[in-house]
Amino acid sequence: MCEDWRDRFAETPDVLKSARLQQTIVQVMDFEIGGDEFITMAGPCSVETESQLLATADHVRRAGARILRGGAFKPRSSPYAFQGLGLEGLKMLARARQESGLAIVTEVMSEIDVPLVAEYADILQIGSRSMENYSLLEAAAHSGRPVLLKRGMVATIADMLHSAQCILDFGNPRVLLCERGIRTFETSMRNTFDAAAIVLLKQASHLPVIADPSHAAGHRNLVPPLARIAVAAGADGLLVEVHPHPDKAWSDGEQSLDFAGFDGMMADLGPYLALRERPRRERVQSWRETVESCSMEAVG
Ligand code: PEP
Ligand code: MN
Repeated sequence: MCEDWRDRFAETPDVLKSARLQQTIVQVMDFEIGGDEFITMAGPCSVETESQLLATADHVRRAGARILRGGAFKPRSSPYAFQGLGLEGLKMLARARQESGLAIVTEVMSEIDVPLVAEYADILQIGSRSMENYSLLEAAAHSGRPVLLKRGMVATIADMLHSAQCILDFGNPRVLLCERGIRTFETSMRNTFDAAAIVLLKQASHLPVIADPSHAAGHRNLVPPLARIAVAAGADGLLVEVHPHPDKAWSDGEQSLDFAGFDGMMADLGPYLALRERPRRERVQSWRETVESCSMEAVG
């Protein structure tokens, strides 16, 4: 790793690459995040009805997703907007998990809800608005579940690494960093997708990096091209909103792909994923050699 990043992020040493740890691999069910496979997490912004969720799970699984997303507890800008189905939504996620075999990622907004959400979720999502809620980070860390940490919309990369470091300090090394766009002076998109942050995080940190082009863009037409950029930038996976009828979605319909749109995005990612494969295998090989030579030195 470039020494500059060690200096710049000196306050968060445990999330940085070292000779001992070049890449964290997070095992979820029978697959790995941060390893060779590019992992797609897809599903609706909010869990709405059982038929909506089961149809989406079935479709995204066939198209190659490994993880179903869907919010049961929703952070909304307006107190009058739909706040999520809560426990009823978690039960629908459990049913979708059972029927599709997909793992579940869902947001937890309050430390009080962590034990409940952790019963149903394979991965706990910490939303952008909660990135610096340290009591929530502590509770999420203690659940033992992997934590998908979304970048705060006005958080610097150093801020995000601070929150990640906290989760590690609280004893949970299974952290996924998620770039989901940041606020800038640009108003034609919901946020500004920070592709450079993905590149930087992949250089500086051993934690897997997930890209969320849906919240970054806010427009469904921008999602597939941003997903391709995310792959080229070195992301380990994607978090994408998909809905059977985006125009009828209870939240974030404008940025949700319909099924055909999701299929198209996945197909168009193919050549980018093929390009990613070889160099990755070589990189993994070279860090394995580094680790082996370090441990041999330690023995010798
Ligand atoms: C979401 O994933 O639906 C969400 C609310 O994301 P963010 O926290 O990034 O706004
Ligand atoms: Mn959303």
